[in-house]
Amino acid sequence: MQFHLNGFRAGDPLQHAPATALHEAARDCVDVLIVGCGPAGLTLAAQLSAFPHINTRIVEQKEGPIALGQADGIACRTMEMFEAFGFAERIAKEACWINETTFWKPDEHNPAHITRGGRVQDVEDGLSEFPHVVINQARVHDYYLEKMHRSPRRLAPDYGLRFLDLNIDESRPYPVEVRLAHGDADSRVETINARYVVGCDGARSAVRRSVNLKLEGESANQAWGVMDVLAVTSFPDVRYKVVVRSASEGNALIIPREGGYLFRLYLELDQLAPDERIANKQVEASDLIAAAQRIFSPYTFDVKEVAWWSVYEIGQRLCRKFDDVPEDEVATRAPRVFICGDACHTHSPKAGQGMNVSMGDAFNLGWKLAAVLSGRAEPRLLHTYSAERQAIAADLIEFDRHWAKRFSERPKTDSASDGDAMAAAEFQRYFTQHGRFTAGTAFRYAHSSVVGDDKYQHLATGFEIGTRFHSAPVVRLCDAKPVHLGHKVKADGRWRMFVFADQQDPTDANARVNALCEFLRHEKASPISAHTPPDADIDSVIEVCAVFQQSHQDIALERTHALLKPAKGRYGLHDMEKMFCVDHRGGNDIFLMRGIDKAAGCIVVVRPDQYIAHVLPLDSYGELSAFFQRIFTMAQG
Ligand SMILES: Cc1cc2nc3c(=O)[nH]c(=O)nc-3n(C[C@H](O)[C@H](O)[C@H](O)COP(=O)(O)OP(=O)(O)OC[C@H]3O[C@@H](n4cnc5c(N)ncnc54)[C@H](O)[C@@H]3O)c2cc1C
Repeated sequence: MQFHLNGFRAGDPLQHAPATALHEAARDCVDVLIVGCGPAGLTLAAQLSAFPHINTRIVEQKEGPIALGQADGIACRTMEMFEAFGFAERIAKEACWINETTFWKPDEHNPAHITRGGRVQDVEDGLSEFPHVVINQARVHDYYLEKMHRSPRRLAPDYGLRFLDLNIDESRPYPVEVRLAHGDADSRVETINARYVVGCDGARSAVRRSVNLKLEGESANQAWGVMDVLAVTSFPDVRYKVVVRSASEGNALIIPREGGYLFRLYLELDQLAPDERIANKQVEASDLIAAAQRIFSPYTFDVKEVAWWSVYEIGQRLCRKFDDVPEDEVATRAPRVFICGDACHTHSPKAGQGMNVSMGDAFNLGWKLAAVLSGRAEPRLLHTYSAERQAIAADLIEFDRHWAKRFSERPKTDSASDGDAMAAAEFQRYFTQHGRFTAGTAFRYAHSSVVGDDKYQHLATGFEIGTRFHSAPVVRLCDAKPVHLGHKVKADGRWRMFVFADQQDPTDANARVNALCEFLRHEKASPISAHTPPDADIDSVIEVCAVFQQSHQDIALERTHALLKPAKGRYGLHDMEKMFCVDHRGGNDIFLMRGIDKAAGCIVVVRPDQYIAHVLPLDSYGELSAFFQRIFTMAQG
């Protein structure tokens, strides 16, 4: 963590100085209006609150933050994102870790009873430096709210404000006019003008309706009962994630929860008719407890306390577009209104994706909005949000549909044990095969203005272009600290250029890494010269970091290139945290781990949302400049 750059400040370094523009920020004319304080809205708000010059408001119809309930699964990929926001470690400490999943099936000797059929490691080794964890959605909200409160914008939600409708008039400086209803007795209506509006208002999104988008998909909904309970039970795997498929009483999931005692039970209820609503079926918590007793027979649950329960119905549905610009108008206008999260895709809770993908949407959109509102990128960049996230959501819904179908199939019980064994083993294999999907690490963005082609992919086979940057351990040159390289990427809207040097000593005057640094620092055509405002720190738009193959003890820091220890801030202090070496002592060679060509080296360009935008040779100056020119406007010099 770096601080004190612009002068010593006592106290908590996570508490940023308030933005100077704060006191004059208008409440009724804003850059971004976010509707909804769920995981999507709060991710976006936390991201935008980091930019002192961006005026954001976030409104929520509820009277205050939620305290319990809703989703709880945090995929490895989401933990990586939390690291960028600075609270992954705290969540890892507080949450329950899902290390293994056990599978239960009908006992072949007595199908009315269940028996343990198998056990798999939940996340494959090396997939991420972070675990798969579970924690109450409300706590995730708390971490975001804290982040927003400590940000330069001191952003806090306006509760008790309900989005009504909007209209767009491009001739106005703040083109989107929004009407909001206060929850107070006289139901006052307030009007806000915004440059951009983002509907993070859940599955029944009013923002979605206001721009004529529809959730399309299966209407035959599956109902689920969900309960967070404290219970005395004879079931032995209550601290594992458990998948139970009983012979005739239905299916269930156990999700162990934070704190060591609480656990969640998901119980599959009846399939609903197309026009049927679970809310009308008058299901009670006691019905769910009784269903659990039947499914888990012969094990018993003596439920002492139900902390939260709900019945939950959801189909797999998706919008064709996640913004207000129809496909045939993409070439002629940029979006003004976006939808994120459950507002544009809904999933069954079985694969635990709803909250994770919703936050992923917002993380994708946040840096793009910030770049456009900072004047660094043209508004056409905003088209890439819908293009990228709609494709991801479509893949995920396809996966969810298969997974949900498999989950709901009754296991065979009438045949000899072979039949059962096959069904259970196949189910378990399917779970393992799709582990990367559920961990959130399998998503890949297609080639676009913000994702390069794969011409040089062979230079770093483990850094697949379009996928998230898969971190690996390195040693920092300036202080020999073992760190994770990926943790350089913070949610600050900056791009990173990781320069993986070839085998030559980087302090040789003619080393290729030095020639690249010379180009980046001094040539007019370099993306850093072209796109960094003249009065800003050299790394404020694109941060260059180098990784050397030598041990940190064998490199003379004083002879490394100045771009890698640049003078910054009001005192011109040197930022020493941009050079890294292979972790020889720990036996972790990032070059080997990520398939980097040691003889050639390469540049790995990483977007502000931690996705790999490009892999290029060390001397591909023209291609590097051309790539950034497609994204950024030229800085005024
Ligand atoms: C009751 C409930 C139970 C759930 N249970 C589970 C579960 O057990 N397991 C699981 O995996 N997932 C569950 N989910 C789904 C999971 O919570 C979502 O996938 C995830 O929260 C999506 O995040 P989001 O930010 O897109 O939307 P949401 O979390 O739905 O947030 C939307 C927010 O917008 C607000 N809002 C809506 N309309 C307006 C308006 N007009 N004006 C202002 N504010 C508005 C809402 O009050 C809400 O706070 C549940 C969702 C709900 C609603």
